[in-house]
Amino acid sequence: MAIDFSFPPEVEEVRHRIRQFLTEIVRPCEQAIEEKPDDRETLVKNVIKMRKAAQEWGLWLPHMPEEFGGMGLGHVAMASVSAEAAKTRFGPFALNAQAPDEGNMHTLLHWANEEQKKKYLIPLCEGRMRSCFAMTEPEVAGSDPTLIQTRAVKDGNDWVINGHKWFISGARGANFAILIARTEDDPDVAQAVNSAFLVDMPSEGWEIVRDVETMSGSHNHCEIRITNLRVPDANLLGGRGQGHRLGQARLGPARLAHCMRWIGQAEVALNMMVERAMSRFAHGSLLAEKQGIQWMIADSTMELYQCKLMVLHAAYKIDRKEDFRSEVSMAKHFVANSLNRIVDRAIQVHGALGYSTDTPLAHMATQARWARFADGADEVHQWRIAQRTIEAYAKDGSVRLAAGDLPL
Ligand SMILES: Cc1cc2nc3c(=O)[nH]c(=O)nc-3n(C[C@H](O)[C@H](O)[C@H](O)COP(=O)(O)OP(=O)(O)OC[C@H]3O[C@@H](n4cnc5c(N)ncnc54)[C@H](O)[C@@H]3O)c2cc1C
Repeated sequence: MAIDFSFPPEVEEVRHRIRQFLTEIVRPCEQAIEEKPDDRETLVKNVIKMRKAAQEWGLWLPHMPEEFGGMGLGHVAMASVSAEAAKTRFGPFALNAQAPDEGNMHTLLHWANEEQKKKYLIPLCEGRMRSCFAMTEPEVAGSDPTLIQTRAVKDGNDWVINGHKWFISGARGANFAILIARTEDDPDVAQAVNSAFLVDMPSEGWEIVRDVETMSGSHNHCEIRITNLRVPDANLLGGRGQGHRLGQARLGPARLAHCMRWIGQAEVALNMMVERAMSRFAHGSLLAEKQGIQWMIADSTMELYQCKLMVLHAAYKIDRKEDFRSEVSMAKHFVANSLNRIVDRAIQVHGALGYSTDTPLAHMATQARWARFADGADEVHQWRIAQRTIEAYAKDGSVRLAAGDLPL
């Protein structure tokens, strides 16, 4: 039998090491940070401590090849690492595997030339730089990048760029951006209108207008005004008109990396739901003994199980260099929605306590909400999934290929 749901011993060993690292290093540092939430010195000191320890423990940069100082894990192995790390707030950052840097590293690895790798990728891998990815604009639907209005015009050996972006995560404090702008007027395919540029920061013409406040507070998702920004031709990433392809190549694995982290969060919520149900007494019995609560636990457990299977299968397809688009779309949609449902049920079981900020659940709920529309809105994924299902049926008289192409 070729189907094996266990990890090889070396991946199991990494998973155990990650768990131990979170317990011994990350959680105590997080506690120190939470005790002094307004003290920047405590924050910086503990972040440095976590990142130094990750290097000492051999857990630095799990997703990158060894030649860049990483662990060289594939996507299946990364699922085990990311799901564990995301059970804590700073876990992914401690390992230098946080969004958006993780996705940007993959992008640079595959699209940057040697000079660009030296200047941007290596310092990012070493933790000496931070980055952001600037695509979405307030004026047009982010779901359709062919509408992007930020425009880059060639001027000698430079490009001159004007435009407006928002929700650019990590922009404040980033050393460079991967910026998507329109360069082509009449391409053969609509998707080839955009190109990607590496923008150094700070740069004249790149202005951070504000940190857009969200329903879960301000988290460095910035609005950016771009005025006559000059970028040398050498900073074009991946060639003219490649912006869409580059974005898609980045988004597949990056979406799945989000799913891995969301699984970690969903498991934390379900653990909390069960623990509360086992200790809260009402109307003659514990909540855990009531059928209405058991249904919530059962539904959440089944969903978590499906999330894990879908993510592992999509990761397996990426590792095998097979077409993974459908599996990643289905996983992204399902995990995002499951996370929202599971966190909401955990709040329900906690009652007023769940609604308070005394537990992490309220914060998890507001964070989980964006999962359903960012990195491809639910409806866009459903549209693509339906398209591929219809195509598969039209071609083979069966939907089997679109439903994971599994041997069933
Ligand atoms: C926390 C957070 C972090 C982010 N970080 C970044 C970042 O670092 N860089 C960046 O560039 N962007 C970032 N974004 C932006 C994000 O990528 C966009 O929100 C996303 O692409 C959707 O674009 P939009 O918000 O313009 O929504 P729109 O495209 O306007 O879509 C709104 C709604 O319209 C519906 N819709 C859209 N298309 C269809 C369709 N074809 N069929 C049916 N319904 C449809 C969906 O319900 C969708 O939710 C971030 C957003 C958030 C919330």
